[in-house]
Amino acid sequence: MQSGGDEGFREYLALLDRALSQVPAKPVSGDRFQMPKSKVMVIGNRTIIQNFKEIVSTLNRQPEQFFNFLLHELGTAGTIEDTRAVLHGKFSKEKIDSLIEIYTKLYVICPVCRGVDTVLRKEGRVLMMHCTACGAISPARGT
Ligand SMILES: [Zn+2]
Repeated sequence: MQSGGDEGFREYLALLDRALSQVPAKPVSGDRFQMPKSKVMVIGNRTIIQNFKEIVSTLNRQPEQFFNFLLHELGTAGTIEDTRAVLHGKFSKEKIDSLIEIYTKLYVICPVCRGVDTVLRKEGRVLMMHCTACGAISPARGT
């Protein structure tokens, strides 16, 4: 039975064509924010966040501010080493990722327009979030 082979191949190509045409076009600017995910490595009694710098640059926050949040939540100590962060103790990627998410909700996402074009400014003792997209000023919820 040789018949059908060619047919099958053509069908496959058509399928491929269809699949490719369904790949979404370039995202529009101001598109959905992608929650950064950590790359975590545990060595001995240390947890290394290998893409720490990438995470803070996605969040558009000061490395120290985000790092202090992590240390506080994990109840540990640690250091930022160039593009990586080293935590004392063993922590799972899931734990780190969930803290990134919490931090983003508290300190990055504007509560009014849900955008992420925000900056933090210390005003007195309160950390205020200024949204450059909608102009809202709100206290950072974590404070
Ligand atoms: Zn806003």
